[in-house]
Amino acid sequence: MSTDKSTPSPKCTAQAQTMRRPVQIAGVTIQPRDASEDAALPPLAAAPAPVPVEGQRCGLVAIVGKPNVGKSTLLNALVGQKISITSRKAQTTRHRITGIRTQGAAQYVFVDTPGFQTIHGTALNKSLNKTVVGVVSDVDFVLFVVEAGSFTTADAKVLALLKPGIPVLLVANKLDNVHRRGDIAPWLQSMQERHAFNEFVPMSAKQPKDIVRLLGICEKYLPEQAWWHAEDELTDRSEKFLASEMVREKLFRLTGDELPYTSTVVIDKFEEEAGRTAKRMLRIAATIVVEREGHKAMVIGDKGEKLKRIGTETRVELEKLLDAKVFIELWVKVRSGWADDEARVRSFGYE
Ligand code: GDP
Ligand code: MG
Repeated sequence: MSTDKSTPSPKCTAQAQTMRRPVQIAGVTIQPRDASEDAALPPLAAAPAPVPVEGQRCGLVAIVGKPNVGKSTLLNALVGQKISITSRKAQTTRHRITGIRTQGAAQYVFVDTPGFQTIHGTALNKSLNKTVVGVVSDVDFVLFVVEAGSFTTADAKVLALLKPGIPVLLVANKLDNVHRRGDIAPWLQSMQERHAFNEFVPMSAKQPKDIVRLLGICEKYLPEQAWWHAEDELTDRSEKFLASEMVREKLFRLTGDELPYTSTVVIDKFEEEAGRTAKRMLRIAATIVVEREGHKAMVIGDKGEKLKRIGTETRVELEKLLDAKVFIELWVKVRSGWADDEARVRSFGYE
């Protein structure tokens, strides 16, 4: 997050760093998360003869859809590593992207967008919606994600944001949840009538072979042009940003639907300590900002149990992701009504 209250140590140039596969950061190599998880992912490009610039394809791909349809899951699977946790915070500029996949001659630059909020008219929501609109007008094509067999008014509102002239591929996700497969053909037909989709892809983001198939389908929509990123680059998000997203994911996962979406996470400290060992050591302090005392109690839990679990689970995942020893300190603060206050929304790093 960009409140930038923290003063990173000189070694911690996290803002400018990008994740690579594997990547050299401050003299250490980040390996893919772990072998067992990697086995489940689609294979990465075989060790490469360099692709000549003339043959390269590269483009920006927006992943859009209402909340909870599986956009972040899809992005992580497409990139081949968990880099996008969720997507509440996104920026409209072309370079604030979240996931890159390079395979063969193709480089896909995916932008995960916040779920388009249709319910509340707060400043935060307006900012999120502006972000979605900004992203979808500036891409080469769009993956419009819905749950297979379903199309609600919330889906329709997102669809209505898409600009004419930009190809839209319908990703009918969570096919594994559809038990009567016979229902899918008529549903796809009804979708055909809703919009001139360029492709219909019934699939499951959790199914590696579907991901491979989707990448194949997407390739021809990438313009022929030189890659924008190095072949091994995964994201241009900073480690600090990934840390805040990881806290946020654990927060939502462990508090469930009880906690309103208006809570956010601010990283107060992200420092790398000069290590006595080969392993990097990161000290992170983060504040979970909630709207009400009641939410605070919810996050802290009985005898601090919940907050402790959020911290532990964040630490374990960050240690894998960043290949470092991580110390994390979490705080909870109440900022009543911050989602309604435009200046504050900006100060928390939303545009
Ligand atoms: P987002 O809000 O659109 O980014 O959705 P998420 O990626 O956070 O996913 C929402 C929920 O759907 C999570 O619990 C995912 O595990 C689940 N999910 C995503 N893709 C699939 C899928 O293909 N099949 C099933 N059964 N669940 C999925
Ligand atoms: Mg998401």
